[in-house]
Amino acid sequence: MKRTVSTRVNLPDERFLNLMNQCAEIFNAHIDWAIENKTFNKNKAHKDLYALLRLQYPSVPSALLQTVRDNALEAIKATKFKRIPRKKATSGLRYDKRTMTLRGHQLTLSCVGKRVKLILEIPDYFKQVFETWEFCGATLTYSKHSKQFWVRLVFESDNPQTIKGGIQGIDRGLYHQAVTSDGKFFSSSQIRNTQRRYLFNRRKLQQKGTRSAKRRLKAMSGREKRFMKDTNHCVSKKLANQPDVAVFVLEDLSSIRTIRRGTPLALCRGTRPPQWLKKMNKWLGSWAFYQQEQFLAYKAEALGKRVVHQDPRYTSQKCNVCKHIKRTNRHKSKFHCKNCGHQTHADLNASRNVRDDYILSSTQGTEEQGSVNTPYVSGNSVS
Ligand SMILES: [Zn+2]
Repeated sequence: MKRTVSTRVNLPDERFLNLMNQCAEIFNAHIDWAIENKTFNKNKAHKDLYALLRLQYPSVPSALLQTVRDNALEAIKATKFKRIPRKKATSGLRYDKRTMTLRGHQLTLSCVGKRVKLILEIPDYFKQVFETWEFCGATLTYSKHSKQFWVRLVFESDNPQTIKGGIQGIDRGLYHQAVTSDGKFFSSSQIRNTQRRYLFNRRKLQQKGTRSAKRRLKAMSGREKRFMKDTNHCVSKKLANQPDVAVFVLEDLSSIRTIRRGTPLALCRGTRPPQWLKKMNKWLGSWAFYQQEQFLAYKAEALGKRVVHQDPRYTSQKCNVCKHIKRTNRHKSKFHCKNCGHQTHADLNASRNVRDDYILSSTQGTEEQGSVNTPYVSGNSVS
């Protein structure tokens, strides 16, 4: 488990900006080399480029040059040459154990010429992480806007504490960002309103197609992303902070997409898929949906909680009370069991199925899991 501590630092501007600029050029040189030679092999890159770059940038410490090389080749490897990663003059710089040391609150950074020592001011909130976790690396970034340097220190811990508590199923869909098995609804109507507004404005600007329209489109996309990120932070924080929950069960994303896409489409038999299904697939495939899950995972982890995944098959069609499965049990947001007459909100029913399916599959065999589950299951059947 990893944790990042960010803090503002005062550094000699000129020297570090100069270093960042040179490192960006070294980074880009490696990218050019990788494209030309169609490889991201570090040893080959070292043989071809190292001596040359040492001559060209004599003031850059050799350890830092190697870090930048590794960084560049990993970046191009990650994109598989489909996208070309580039660094700008003030792009962030990665430091590792070769190029920086941390002793207590004293941080030493490699730079052009002499190393730079500084004392970090660590907020009380991060003191524990700082003192007990293992330090594994950092990035240095520069904000052009505030003309200020930041370091992000990454710490690692092998044995994060885990807490005991209830298990909660979470259903995510088009109309609710999340519905929990104990009946908490996180509506997404506000998100949809905002997205609709952005969509409307985007279409208008796209029709215009002028240069200034393109510029405004770019700014707008940034704003929309920040809006979604903020909403995702808020919802995942509320979910993670629930005091009585220790395990969050989510539907397994990879199978959601095929199952939810497949089943209703087969039902349509060649006719046009309904509008809601198109919207649903768009939402399931969006980055914002993934982001929400990632945020929840790391926020939960930081609190010693867990996020697990469950096969979502039939979760939306199965009755949570009598376990009868029928497609017509569900009609839009209403769930009405054709067998026992149980009526409830469809997403709530689904979230309870997700939770119960997980409990069933995890209690088969492990005693330890069973003891965690018991209080929740019995508590539920009483109510
Ligand atoms: Zn039923």
